Amino acid sequence: MTQFRKVLAIHTGQPTSDGAGVKLTRVFGGQSAELFDPFLMLDEFGSDTADDYIAGFPSHPHRGFETVTYMIEGRMRHEDHMGNVGLLQGGGVQWMTAARGIIHSEMPEQEEGAMRGFQLWVNLPGKTKLGPASYQDIQPENVPKLTTEAGVNVTVMAGTFDDGQVQHPGAVQRPDTEPFYFDMHMPAGSSISPRIPQGHRVFVYVYEGTVELAGQAQAIGTSRMARLSEEGDLQLHSASGAKVLLIAGKPLREPIVQYGPFVMNTREEIEQALRDFRDDKLTA
Ligand code: FE
Repeated sequence: MTQFRKVLAIHTGQPTSDGAGVKLTRVFGGQSAELFDPFLMLDEFGSDTADDYIAGFPSHPHRGFETVTYMIEGRMRHEDHMGNVGLLQGGGVQWMTAARGIIHSEMPEQEEGAMRGFQLWVNLPGKTKLGPASYQDIQPENVPKLTTEAGVNVTVMAGTFDDGQVQHPGAVQRPDTEPFYFDMHMPAGSSISPRIPQGHRVFVYVYEGTVELAGQAQAIGTSRMARLSEEGDLQLHSASGAKVLLIAGKPLREPIVQYGPFVMNTREEIEQALRDFRDDKLTA
């Protein structure tokens, strides 16, 4: 008999603001970090009002983890200390490995219209937290997409999509955390059964519509994220149609000490990051 992954908790995003006053929804992050290991944060930003996003995220540092920005609508310009300049636009993905340190800005390029997207933080293991920083911009046409037999459109940002019928590698593969990151657009009445390794943590965030999980009584509504057990199969169904992020990764099971944009294993390492930033050595 098939054992399905169980819902351990449903998380509701909290409205907040970050950067220079960008309004966003923090789906998780900052609290009970071990529950989301190997992920640290998921933010959703979405507004039709320029005032909510126009101030952007001026120059700021990161150390010890990776940031993944996925834009659905609108345009964001990235500039960093390595001289990278990237224009992230609807359907594009930016995968930034801050590791030892990155100082960058993320600024909306547009002055009107809708801006919508997500930023996910993926932790790095202690052994690579001080490794070299790197950055990749994946343009919309280079992000792998597929349509399942049931008509679900899947964007495969990371990991490999495999439902037993099709296998489709994503844009990014990472060691240690082995992340899976899919955007799935489910028409009404469709189902999908992505295979995720046993032992991976699985998170299902519904950003439009409602989703039902096989073996679970409770449906997941809009702006809700289900945190699932590490063992079992996964089958999603949407009676009325939905847009869903599926995020999964292998937990690092290391101590997590976070101070704003620095995420290390110990307090001493955080203090070192603060000194390095003050002394202009964060990225050196
Ligand atoms: Fe940033």
